[in-house]
Order: sequence, then structure tokens, then C-alpha cells
Amino acid sequence: MIDALPEKGVASDQILAELRELRGADLPTHGGRLFAYVYDPALEGLDDLTRAAHAGSAHVNGLDPTAFPSLLAMENALVGAAAKLLGGTPETVGSVTSGGTESLILAVKAARDAYPAISEPRLVIPATAHAAFAKAAHYLRVALDVVPVEGLRADPRAMAAAITPDTVLVAASAPSYAHGVVDPVAEIAAIAAERGVRFHVDACFGGWILPYLRRLGADLPDFDLSVPGVTSISVDLHKYAYAPKGVSILLHRDQALRLPQYFAYADWPGYPMINPGIASTRSGGPIAAAFATLRGIGDAGYLELARKTRESVAVLAAAVTATDGVRLYAPAETSVVCLAADTAAVTETVASDTAASDTADTASASASGGVDLFVLADELAARGWHTQLQMAYAGLPPTIHLTVTAAVHATAPAFAADLADAVAATRAKGPVELPPLPPLTPETITPALIASLAEGLGLRGGDFTRMAAVNSVLNAAPPALREALLTGFLSLLQRP
Ligand SMILES: *Cc1c(COP(=O)(O)O)cnc(C)c1O
Repeated sequence: MIDALPEKGVASDQILAELRELRGADLPTHGGRLFAYVYDPALEGLDDLTRAAHAGSAHVNGLDPTAFPSLLAMENALVGAAAKLLGGTPETVGSVTSGGTESLILAVKAARDAYPAISEPRLVIPATAHAAFAKAAHYLRVALDVVPVEGLRADPRAMAAAITPDTVLVAASAPSYAHGVVDPVAEIAAIAAERGVRFHVDACFGGWILPYLRRLGADLPDFDLSVPGVTSISVDLHKYAYAPKGVSILLHRDQALRLPQYFAYADWPGYPMINPGIASTRSGGPIAAAFATLRGIGDAGYLELARKTRESVAVLAAAVTATDGVRLYAPAETSVVCLAADTAAVTETVASDTAASDTADTASASASGGVDLFVLADELAARGWHTQLQMAYAGLPPTIHLTVTAAVHATAPAFAADLADAVAATRAKGPVELPPLPPLTPETITPALIASLAEGLGLRGGDFTRMAAVNSVLNAAPPALREALLTGFLSLLQRP
């Protein structure tokens, strides 16, 4: 471990060399071969621009916009751009947040605090909504009503049935992260409006690409503030706006809807604290970098990036369709390619309460038919394609998720051959064989047990390149056990 507090300060050159070495262990953020976590437009010079912009505002504090009007101006410009792109009107207002999770927490907070008389507030979401809603509900003590979906999309009738007098917010995705499909926003919005409930559209993932895909002719439904009944919408600039990490936007239809989002406190001897978001002190770096990114790329630039992404999605989806042993699990209608093993059961309904037996069934179904998806993910990684596994859930089989960005345009043509090769290698290897495991329940997990499991599953020394065994164990576990295992494992990693 490197000493972060050496006796005497170290020379800059050496520190930068150390940082380069550390970064060398990371997955590649550029090059179009990492299909999660990063969004790469592959634009010459953009990194230099955003680096300079970030550095120039890194020490500026968003705590007080009257002290640092530069940030107020940039934030208002970012919110204005998002409003223009997402069906806003002159009444539209918004906030810059640190990411999608914060945007969703604030949307839920604003809704909760808009109805102070409701003592046990509830949030209605489709089962495919992002996990950040569960986090928001947990942090804010709002009860979560998870509604089963129909063919991977929110089911408006089931959503309507889940609304109660205590419901403070209904939400849907445009598109969902896991499958990249757009929920029927207009139908749900009509129901929410009729019932007088706020309706948030989570466009964190796709909000900056859907408008351009539509301009390019993609057949996608209305999803933004132009739809009556949508009261707020979120879009992450650090996703398809290609800004460096740390920036998302939460838009509200008007100021009255936003007011309960603020936290204000003047009842102490220090400065009155008035915050639109969770953090108080906030770096201007990510905001300036996002501002520079939007102005550097421009509307025409984003249209071109969306065109490249759309073409790449088509190429990758065709590769999946053409490969025996895997299939597209969801229609590749936006910027996600989601694939499953050919043998995986086609299940159209996601139940909200996962029975452990469902999970076990789908796990064995995927392992018995030739292509073990967990081995396949490792084989793809060994060939330089880093994908994201999604575990079996409530009757859905495990899937492999690919977030496609413009940088993939250069690499997509090479994917089909490597996918076929990886599938062949996966077949040859057969499903993972697990070491004997003790009976596991969330209650019996201890740090020592996690350490011995990690050892047994080959996770020694921080080598995360062969994850099939680990993923198979997690996949076979019900969600509560997955949570306990992963929490224990992260806790093992995250210590000096
Ligand atoms: C990424 C994402 C989020 C959470 O965003 P973070 O920036 O990771 O906090 C929420 N919803 C959707 C649909 C997302 O794709």
C-alpha cells in the first residue's frame, strides 16, 4: 500500500508516475471495449478540454452561488440545455446534482416533502426501475411498491392499481438501465395526473441520447416533459452527454414542484444553509467540465455521436443474433444490447418478490444448455471485451449487458468473430464447477466466512479477471443473500 501521508512531501513527477501505475490496473476507459461504467465519445481533444475546465474550477465551491456566480451561470446554462432537449417550457427549473442517484433521491425527497400530511409516504416503481430508487426509499424512509412489468416494460394498469392515497411519487424509466427499453411514459403519466400524483421519468441513462435517436428516425415513444403529467425528469450528463463523472440534472415542470427539494436551515450560529442537493460544499470541477463538454460537442455533435452509437448497436445486436448459443434478450431499441443464453427461459413477467426457488431454477436452466453466461463473460473479457453481468431475478435469466457508446463504432465490426470464439470456448469449458460451499444465509455471514469464501473462489490478490465462479454463487443466491455476500466482500476490500 502506498503511504498517502509520507513523512516529507514527494516530488510531483514521482507522484504522477505512481498515479499512472495505479491507473494501469483499471479497465480501459477509452477504446470502445468496456460496455459499462464509462461513456466514451472518442472525440479528439475533448479530454484536454475537460481536464483544463475541471482544473480551473476544482476549488470553486457551489455552496454559495452569490460568492461564485460562475457556477450559478454554468448550472443555469446546463439546466437550460437539458430543458430544451427534454421538452421543457419557460416554466421549467432544475438542479445540477452529482449523479443519477442524487437526482433520484432528490426527486423522491421533493415528492415526500410536498405532502407533509402523509405520515407513511409510498413510492410506486416498475420492477425494472433503477436500484437507486430503492436507495432513495431506504434513505428517506419512503415505502417502496415494486410493480411487476409486462414484457420488460412498466405495466400502466398494474402501476395504476398500486397507487394508494399515501403514494407521493410514481416513476418509470426512459429507458431502463438493465434492458434499455422505454416504459410507456404517456400512459403512466395520464394515470398519475388523473390521480393527482407526481410522476418522475428516470432518463438518467438515456436522456441525452433518446432525443437524438428519435431525430435519426428511431421509433421511440414520447418520454419527456412534453408529456402532460410528467412532473420531473432526470438525465445524467456523465452518461450520454459524455461529461466527466459527477454531473446529473434533475428538472421539474415548475418552481412550485421543486421547492420541497430544498433543505434550508438558519437556526444555528453559523451561515444560513440553503441547499438544493445532498452535498453542501460542492466542487465546481465537474460542473465546469460538463459545461465545456456540452459547448465543445454541440447539438450537431451529439446527433453524430448518436448516429455512431445507433449503428454500433445494430452491428452488435446482429452479432448476437447470428451467434448460435446466445440471443438478444431485449429489443436493442436504444443504446443497450442485452443478451442471454439461448436456452434461458423466456419469461415475460417480472414478479416483484423474488422467490429463492425461481432464482435457482433460472440458474440451472442457464447452466444446463451449453453456454454458461458467467463463463462467457470471462471469455469475452479474456478477448478484451468487458461486459456487465446481470443476475437472474424473479424468473428472468441471467443476462449480459452492453452499454454502447460512440467509441464502439470503431470496434463493433470485430465483435462478432470474438463472440463466436468466446461462445465456442465457453462450450468447450462447460459450466463452472463450484467448490463445496457451506450453507449460507444472510444472518450467518461473518467477515471470516467471507474471507474463506473469497479464497475458495479464487479472489486472492485482487485478481478479478476470472469471475465465473463468484458470479455463479451470487446468481444462485436470493437477492438478500447476494446483498450480504457482496457487502461483506466490499468490506473486506475496503480497508487500509
Ligand atoms: C446510472 C443510472 C442511475 C444512477 O446514476 P448514478 O450516476 O450511477 O448515480 C439511475 N437510473 C438509471 C436509469 C441509470 O442508468
